[in-house]
Order: sequence, then C-alpha cells, then structure tokens
Amino acid sequence: MHKIMTVDYIVVGLGLAGIAFIEQLEKNNKSYVVFENHSQNSSKVAGGMFNPVILKRFTPVWNGIKQIEIALPFYKTLEKKLNCNLIEYVNIYRNFKSIEEQNNWFIACDNPILSKYLDATIITNHNKHIIAPFGYGKVKNTGKIYTKKLIENYTSLLLKKEKLKYETFNYNKLQITASSISYENINAKKIVFAEGYGMINNPFFKNLPLKEAKGELIEIYAPDLKIDFLLKSAIFIMPLGNDYYKIGATFNWKDKTNQPTKEGKQELIEKLNKTITCSYKITNHMAGIRPTVKDRRPLIGVHKTHENIAILNGLGTRGVMLAPTLASILFQHLENNQPIDSEININRF
Ligand SMILES: Cc1cc2nc3c(=O)[nH]c(=O)nc-3n(C[C@H](O)[C@H](O)[C@H](O)COP(=O)(O)OP(=O)(O)OC[C@H]3O[C@@H](n4cnc5c(N)ncnc54)[C@H](O)[C@@H]3O)c2cc1C
Repeated sequence: MHKIMTVDYIVVGLGLAGIAFIEQLEKNNKSYVVFENHSQNSSKVAGGMFNPVILKRFTPVWNGIKQIEIALPFYKTLEKKLNCNLIEYVNIYRNFKSIEEQNNWFIACDNPILSKYLDATIITNHNKHIIAPFGYGKVKNTGKIYTKKLIENYTSLLLKKEKLKYETFNYNKLQITASSISYENINAKKIVFAEGYGMINNPFFKNLPLKEAKGELIEIYAPDLKIDFLLKSAIFIMPLGNDYYKIGATFNWKDKTNQPTKEGKQELIEKLNKTITCSYKITNHMAGIRPTVKDRRPLIGVHKTHENIAILNGLGTRGVMLAPTLASILFQHLENNQPIDSEININRF
C-alpha cells in the first residue's frame, strides 16, 4: 500500500499555463503535486515572443499591455528562482509589403495605447540579403522568453522537490466529492487542468470549443544574414545567436499531430526564400499544437457541477503574455471567490 499524500492542489500539465498556476500556489503557500506526460509540446517549441501589437493590422492585442506588465515581473522572479536568463528584449522589424502598409503604420503610431511600442520612423533596409523594398516599422520594448529553458529548469526544480509525477493523468481514476477529490493515493482539495491541446481527452472539459492550430518551425544556420532584430514578414526570423535563427510559424487547423511534416517545412522554406537571399542550412524542425479557442479568448473557470475541478487553457498564440495574468485570476477565483470576467469564463459556452 502507498502512503496517502494530502495536498491542496493537483495540477495536470507543466506547460506555460501549469507553471504560472504553480507559481500562484508557491506564492500562497499551498501544497501541490503535478502530473506531466510529455504528450504536448506547444510551450517547448514556441517562439516565446511577447508583443502587444497585432503585426498584421497594427492594432493592440486584447489586454496585451496589461498582460506584459504582469508577465515581465513574473518571468524576472523565475529568472532569480531558477538562476538563469529567461527574458531577452529584442526589437521587431515589420517588413512592409506596400506604401499602403506604410501609411497604415503611421496611423497606428498615432494610437496613444501603442505609442510606447511603435516607432514612427520608416527604417530603410541596408542588408543586401533581405528583400524589403518598402522598409520596416520598428516595434520596441518587445522580446522573447526562453520557454524551453524555463520548462526544463522548472521541471528539474519540481523533481528535486519531489512534486512532479512523470505519468499520464488518468481521468477515470479521479474520485470527486463536494469538498475534496482523490486520485490513487493522493487526496486534494482541488484540481487544475492545464493540458493545452491534451484537453480533448479530458471528460470534464472536452466539449469546450478548442480550435487547435498546429504550428511548425525550423531553425537555420545562416552565417551571412547578420540580423540582431526579429524580422517579421510572411514568417518571422528570430536570431538565436551564433548565426542561428528560428523561422516560423505555420498554421494548420487540420493536422492534429505534434509531428513535423514535409509540407510544413516546404511552406516555411518558400516563405523564407521570399524574404532572404543568402544561403542557409536547416538545422532543426519542430512542431506543436497551439490551444486556440473559437472566439480567441482563453478558457478559465470551474466545472459546472464540480466546483473543485478547474481549467486553465485556451492560451492560443500568446501563452507567454497570457499565462501569468490568467493563473492569478483563476487562483483568486478558487481561493477567494473573485469573479472571472465573462469574456474568458468557460461558462460563456
Ligand atoms: C509553433 C508555435 C509557435 C508559438 N509561438 C509563440 C510565441 O512566439 N509567443 C507566445 O506567447 N506563444 C507562442 N505559441 C503559443 C504558446 O506556445 C501556447 O499558448 C502555450 O504554450 C500553451 O501553453 P499550455 O501550458 O496551455 O499548453 P502546453 O504547452 O501544451 O502544455 C500542456 C502540458 O500538459 C501535458 N499534458 C496534457 N495532457 C496530459 C495528461 N493527461 N497527463 C499529464 N500531462 C498532460 C502536456 O504534455 C503538456 O506539457 C506558439 C505555439 C506554437 C505551436
């Protein structure tokens, strides 16, 4: 017989959502155990960018600036805790396709919400390896989070603390009463599911309208390219250092596997070849599924009949910015009965 383990929370999933929620538990001295089975890897392959501007239309991301203001101190705290660098500030250069886009950029620069982020000067391209006849618009105060490093180091920390179980959470084994739940030898007050696209197997929440979007990325070695900004055209080109770059990402709403495909790679190569002219070597190819939602808002809340079963999902294309804010909202709801905005509450479905 295994010894009974009693905790405040079970957390299922150790991606950006799971980590953000665990940090709430840590901050509030709650005990917990985490399940992770490596079935999804969205958070590990993500570009990790944080940027409050929609680069297609030059409009603000929903609540983006507020989310960044919460996210940056969150990742800074994790840098200290994990003793590693997780945040890198890098400007984004948006490659204009036309004069019309340049004009739209100037209009966007007048938007007071975005003034801290958009630079009104059109930057002329001087790099002979980049095709950019209409120049660039610069987005400032943006950057990226090293999500893979974050997850790897966070995993080591949880293993050291003996709080992580490397196994598939089996939903059939969950027993629920009004005041507690149990799973094998674990008794807990509440459970939070943060399984990303893995949610489709979860009998408590699988009817929520997750509209998964597979994304593929490649990494290249391009010694002649020499850019130190994140270039956004039909794809993004993100410098990784030492002449390596990450190129992404595709959107595929049909393929539900995590496997990189020939077609995905081909699409990225074609778009890349329309952006740069120097030679390069592909050094890596990855894929993951973004947990996006029909109405492009997150999925937060508790099960309609079991109040001790909660979900933190639907982070979509912007998990880096969203996760810390959403984790705090969910925690405040579960512990202090604070309301969840109807725009993100799962009870809207
Ligand atoms: C190609 C690509 C590029 C992206 N670029 C960016 C970007 O630049 N910026 C940005 O902010 N976002 C980006 N995203 C989106 C971002 O990755 C997601 O929003 C975020 O990672 C979702 O995090 P999550 O924790 O909800 O899900 P996940 O990262 O999928 O984590 C869920 C975890 O739950 C585990 N799990 C699932 N079911 C079970 C089970 N039954 N038992 C145990 N464990 C289970 C999975 O193994 C997984 O580790 C990108 C995504 C992709 C695919």
